[in-house]
Amino acid sequence: RTVYVNGQYCPETEAKVSIFDRGYLFADAIYEVTCVLGGKLVDFDGHMARLQRSLQELDMTMPMSIDELLAIHRKLVAANNVDEGLIYMQISRGSADRDFNFPPKGTPPVAVMFTQSRPVIESPLAKRGLKIISLPDIRWGRRDIKTVQLLYPSMAKNAAYQAGADDAWLVQDGYVTEASSANAYIVTTDGKIVTRKLSFDILHGITRAAVLRLAAESGYTLEERSFTIEEALAAKEAFITSATSFVTAVLEIDGTAIGEGVIGPVSKRLREIYIEQAVAAAK
Ligand code: PLP
Repeated sequence: RTVYVNGQYCPETEAKVSIFDRGYLFADAIYEVTCVLGGKLVDFDGHMARLQRSLQELDMTMPMSIDELLAIHRKLVAANNVDEGLIYMQISRGSADRDFNFPPKGTPPVAVMFTQSRPVIESPLAKRGLKIISLPDIRWGRRDIKTVQLLYPSMAKNAAYQAGADDAWLVQDGYVTEASSANAYIVTTDGKIVTRKLSFDILHGITRAAVLRLAAESGYTLEERSFTIEEALAAKEAFITSATSFVTAVLEIDGTAIGEGVIGPVSKRLREIYIEQAVAAAK
């Protein structure tokens, strides 16, 4: 694979980042994952808008213009012949002597990008639907910033696997925040789509924004509010959204089937609508 590290394209085996990189020492880095469909980027502008917001919230600087980032994304997709998959981009505050204080202004950020090819539209998990377990949400209080501080989400997903499930929904003060790396939704028995409203408690999903817009345009009723695991267990359907899972149905939570325990019509329809739009608008 050809990867990008700080201004250079090179084979992944030759890519090097300093051991003093603040991403490595302090998780002082932010990232974005953009889906690739048919060799094109899905909602690149949305991901770049969130990137800029994450950087701003952490008082970090853009390493280059959005046009330049787009050019690198496209070059990597082409160099690696990615038809379907993703591009991962990470920007750290840079490399400096280990110190809790931020390095001096002007310390250059470190940008890294690489591709991963994998089926996304026909992903096995999306075809099957997910088993979820609930776990306490003990992450930090600024989950709206997409930092690489992903140890707890990684532990949560691992715990789900150990329990024979696919992922975890995280619960804070009795209410679901989100999944380990996706936003969480239920469909009520009267057909309303419910998902937690935006705040510091969850990541402001780019897919969430698109799916809510498309759902509203298609005549679904939306409710942006918190819900409990108990409400989810009594729901007609449940699903998640993320850049690489699109809309993926949840069949089971904590061993209890949701609705009929199969991929429901709302999840199925939203996935179709989302994919149709994503393919058409990719650039
Ligand atoms: N929530 C969390 C914690 C995530 O890590 C992600 C993305 O991977 C999402 C939600 C979904 O965001 P997006 O739709 O922008 O991929």
